[in-house]
Amino acid sequence: MPRAPDGASGSGPGGQKGGFAVIVGAQFGDEFERLIGAAAANGIDFEALERAGRDAALGVMGRLVAAHLNADRGDTRATAACDCGATAHYVDRREKTFTTAFGPLTLERAWYHCAACGHGCSPRDRELALDDGSLSPAVRRMVGKAAAETSFGNASDLLRELAGLDVGAKQVERHAEALGRDIARDEAAVVESGPPAADTLYAGLDGTGVPVRPSETVGRVGKQADGAAKTREVKLVTVWSAEDRDRHGMPRRDADSTSCNAAIESIASRDTDHAPAPFAARVLRELERRGFGRAARRVVLGDGAAWIWNFADEHLPGAIQIVDLFHAKEHVFEVAKAIYGDGDLAAQWGKARRDELDRHGAQPVIAALQSYAHRGDEVRRQLEYFTANRKRMDYPALRAQGLCVTTGVVEGACRSVVCNRLKRGGMHWTVDGANAIIALRCAIRSNRFDDYWERRAAIP
Ligand SMILES: [Zn+2]
Repeated sequence: MPRAPDGASGSGPGGQKGGFAVIVGAQFGDEFERLIGAAAANGIDFEALERAGRDAALGVMGRLVAAHLNADRGDTRATAACDCGATAHYVDRREKTFTTAFGPLTLERAWYHCAACGHGCSPRDRELALDDGSLSPAVRRMVGKAAAETSFGNASDLLRELAGLDVGAKQVERHAEALGRDIARDEAAVVESGPPAADTLYAGLDGTGVPVRPSETVGRVGKQADGAAKTREVKLVTVWSAEDRDRHGMPRRDADSTSCNAAIESIASRDTDHAPAPFAARVLRELERRGFGRAARRVVLGDGAAWIWNFADEHLPGAIQIVDLFHAKEHVFEVAKAIYGDGDLAAQWGKARRDELDRHGAQPVIAALQSYAHRGDEVRRQLEYFTANRKRMDYPALRAQGLCVTTGVVEGACRSVVCNRLKRGGMHWTVDGANAIIALRCAIRSNRFDDYWERRAAIP
């Protein structure tokens, strides 16, 4: 058995605080001299100085942190526990360079080998949360935040520009997706019940197609001319309150009241299953966090898709069901096109029906469509849609109860969470990759991102 080397007690520079401060001061002084020295103010390119100064200051801090960590040999023991459950044995101390917020940092850590599983490990990496590859936790957090907002290539550029970090686009992609998967796992595992933020809470449900790689649609029926699918549906739940009123006294979404949760996931549960389908379980977790079930009045808004009302009937009894007015109007627009084509007549007829829908609910639209039912399948399909959802489109009565019948919230959430990031030119996702980035975006928009990092830091 290899013997642990001597001097394995933690002997950091902690005992020489005065001397340490002198070293730090001298290092910053040297960097200052190198960057500006005695240059006059009018001879300074301030922008260049800011950038070089930032890098130099981080560099000094990084060297000090590395020296402190490398002086501590407390991680050198005869054995260490391996992830596989067996015992790993000490081999030697090994260097590895990590990308950190200070820049590249080379750390020397005790290295162990496990004969049972054949893997090596460093307990120090695990303690410092450096065991997820070569990026430090703060850098992974920055990568996650940047990649949630923009393409992996743009995120890589931004990280270089804003934080002086050198993380390539491929590396950004790999780490952002790994982080997103971990956030998704955390979201499913940790549900903290919250009190309802208002007497009336709204839950909006929607779906939108995201372009995926051909391998992700094998055997699926789609909308392409040949019957193939090029997209997979992301389903999304948004929860918000609308106690606020606009100048006409109509309910308006309360600022900062929105949370969301989404994934490419099935809502269909098999008859033999007792557990809800994956997306149903996701919606129920989000509603539990928001105290939806404890709100005095609960409202479900959807676009009229059958799965939404099936879900609401089964899991949210007593909730008021409303077809989002925005979506209902889109259906009027579609049926106008089916009847009149693309011209002015379609626009005029469509506008008249949309106004009626707004003021009187679905009944006038149904009456109008009945006289056009002979015009083909699309008209008949839309007639069925308005008939089936008639009660959910009683907008005058719903408004009289002070309810929000549309705010664009559902639509806006779909755009902001899914479309703006995942439906950009040339993007083709894997389901796994899309779900990881969606999990990241939902966590950030629902103020769960910080909670995740706090929980992660608390893991011993
Ligand atoms: Zn092992």
